[in-house]
Amino acid sequence: MKTAFVTGSSRGIGKAIALRLASDGFKVILHGVTESNHIKALKDEIEKNGGTAEIITADLCNLEATKKLAKKLTDVDVLVLNASVQYRTPWQEITTDACYDQLNCNFVSSMVLIQAVVSHMKENGWGRIVTIGSVQEAKPHPDMLVYSASKAAQTNMMQSLSLQLAKEGITVNNVAPGVIYTDRNVAALSDPEYAKKVTDSIPVGFYGEPKDCSGIVSLLCSEEGRYITGQSIYVDGGKSVQ
Ligand code: NAP
Repeated sequence: MKTAFVTGSSRGIGKAIALRLASDGFKVILHGVTESNHIKALKDEIEKNGGTAEIITADLCNLEATKKLAKKLTDVDVLVLNASVQYRTPWQEITTDACYDQLNCNFVSSMVLIQAVVSHMKENGWGRIVTIGSVQEAKPHPDMLVYSASKAAQTNMMQSLSLQLAKEGITVNNVAPGVIYTDRNVAALSDPEYAKKVTDSIPVGFYGEPKDCSGIVSLLCSEEGRYITGQSIYVDGGKSVQ
């Protein structure tokens, strides 16, 4: 049984990806900042459906915690880098602490975790790495300067690694969601005026759901995905081309 590690899989898009990979037959390592009730409930759900799951925790804004976590990852075949933090602040008011939090979680931790898992993938001549980006790589939000830059940096790293790992049977791709209705944007979208502005900016005319992102990750992590590498795939109802 192959093992998939999905960061930030206690909720939202990461949870949908973890459920899908578990139903595809992977043992799934679930991850959150803490061992919350929702992550425990997800582990139970996977096990009730006949799957295998374990839980690991770490705050990926904290580099030391990330390095400790990396040491525990001995047999990961599929790595999905989904966790991120996102601060909304006018650009002139961004503090360096907020900048480093976002860079550490959204970019540096991705590099550290990839470094940790690649030797196992190379030994087996098989591996799948998927970064989760954002439509903001194409359409940056003015109040999320560092967030969108961190996602663009992660995608540039993905492209470089896809070339460097191609001969090893390891594919590396990015999935860039648009507006997906999850905990992180419930508050902003509860304002009807803002919600209308957002919906009007999406060509298909509605928000996505977390499970809209899991099918493409499943494909990229499957045998059928073996010829897809170095790609950034937008799951955004057309927003990136608008
Ligand atoms: P979410 O619902 O806010 O869930 C966040 C997940 O990340 C949770 O599992 C959370 O764990 C974990 N997390 C939060 N802070 C963390 C930290 N400091 N260190 C480690 N893990 C942390 O997120 P989402 O909306 O599903 O987004 C998932 C991914 O899609 C992110 O990379 C996001 O940037 C990207 N994305 C989302 C949207 C969207 O509209 N939702 C759009 C574009 C891109 P706990 O449960 O323990 O807090």
